[in-house]
Amino acid sequence: MQQTFQEALQLPIFTILRQAAKENRVDCYVIGGFVRDYLLHRGTPKDIDIVAIGSGIQLAEKVASLLPNKPKVSVFKNFGTAMLKYQGVELEFVGARKESYHHSSRKPIIENGSLEDDQNRRDFTINALAISLNERNYGALIDPFNGVTDLKEKIIRTPLSPEITYSDDPLRMMRAIRFATQLEFKIALPSLQAIGANKDRITIISKERIVDELCKILASKKPSIGLSLLHKTELLSYILPELVALQGIEEIEGQRHKDNFWHTLEVVDNISKTTDNLWLRWAALLHDIGKAPTKKFHKKLGWTFHGHEFVGAKMVYKIFKRLRMPLNDKMKFVQKMVLMSSRPIVLSEDFTTDSAVRRLVFDAGDNVEDLMTLCEADITTKNIKKQNKYKNNFKLVRQKIKEVEERDQVRNFQPPVSGEEIMRIFNLKPSKEIGIIKEAIKEAILDGKIPNDYESAKQYMFKKAEQLGIKY
Ligand code: ATP
Ligand code: MG
Repeated sequence: MQQTFQEALQLPIFTILRQAAKENRVDCYVIGGFVRDYLLHRGTPKDIDIVAIGSGIQLAEKVASLLPNKPKVSVFKNFGTAMLKYQGVELEFVGARKESYHHSSRKPIIENGSLEDDQNRRDFTINALAISLNERNYGALIDPFNGVTDLKEKIIRTPLSPEITYSDDPLRMMRAIRFATQLEFKIALPSLQAIGANKDRITIISKERIVDELCKILASKKPSIGLSLLHKTELLSYILPELVALQGIEEIEGQRHKDNFWHTLEVVDNISKTTDNLWLRWAALLHDIGKAPTKKFHKKLGWTFHGHEFVGAKMVYKIFKRLRMPLNDKMKFVQKMVLMSSRPIVLSEDFTTDSAVRRLVFDAGDNVEDLMTLCEADITTKNIKKQNKYKNNFKLVRQKIKEVEERDQVRNFQPPVSGEEIMRIFNLKPSKEIGIIKEAIKEAILDGKIPNDYESAKQYMFKKAEQLGIKY
């Protein structure tokens, strides 16, 4: 008996689709993500994929003509697809197709096909589900690969042989891992093995697409699911070898350091509980990246990672560049977080002076809360006593930050006396001395030697000028 899912088709657009299909005398189905997410109760869709057994473009044009606001249809002739937006939802139209692949490219040779051909070319059984929009069986679910069972069993499986599926289009390896993370599904063992076997095929995928999937993994509730799958299948060695280099524990003279790869994954999961800021999650992912190249063993000190924050911040730039990610303010933010990632920890371990907190607020500027969030996520000790101690210490640091901020306002600190003013008062041309005086004023304020106001800064300026032998 065929199940019907008419209740999935509540949106008014489906009535229009039904009518358009009838008028164009073409069969059509809603397919892929929409059906999957409906069955998983995943909320309202952002896009709906429609497959027509015939021309998808003509169907799109028909639908547009039937809609009250006659939306514009974007046609992608080369792909045989069309898109229109209605009530905030993107409708993607495609003609059913049969695909065959060439080894060196993920761009297939395309022929017109049946619904079955089209379902065969889909990446996963759970993404191949279709619901009919045709008069004769409106609402019928067409599920040739038991996708519904896989949804219930929370399994990612390919309709055809996994070997061929992943080799044909290696982006699917990233998609499998991304869906496993977003949906918290398991990847079927043969699929997982096929990903491992085809891992080097990832090299034919553009960096942009890889990063796109990686960002979706990072934006999930528990990114470690995907990150550990990327590690297990060794895809991570192609994408972020710097992270893989953090894995492992070395022991010399009975002294061990922690495994910074698994630690990093915990930090990313932790931060994902407190922030949706994707770039802060990136910072968590890369915060210890400098530890592999800076690792040393000293007889007296044990394991050290001196300057890893500085080295790590430099690596952030290289990684972003290699992955063709934007080298903009987001990259700078991640760099800054990595560079400063140990600062609050130092504060929390020791007695915290006001001047140390003032310096932290000054250096972190508007990112001070984000930095605290990162450092709190960085606590991964399993020792409850220590955990509580660190958490409490960070609470104290946060409190101190608030106090210092209210009193001294150093967050977006501008020296109260400007360089121009110093030049004017002493009748100087631009010179080294002006920089020295400005810097001295800044330092005095951050150290709490003088309050952050104009009069005090000016007095201090005269004092400093005198020391430098500058005549007034
Ligand atoms: P989401 O939109 O949440 O990422 P989705 O399943 O809708 O999930 P899309 O990228 O929008 O994913 O693709 C729509 C459909 O197209 C998928 O459900 C799948 O059937 C098919 N598809 C997308 N990419 C591929 C691919 N690389 N190989 C095979 N089929 C694919
Ligand atoms: Mg989609």
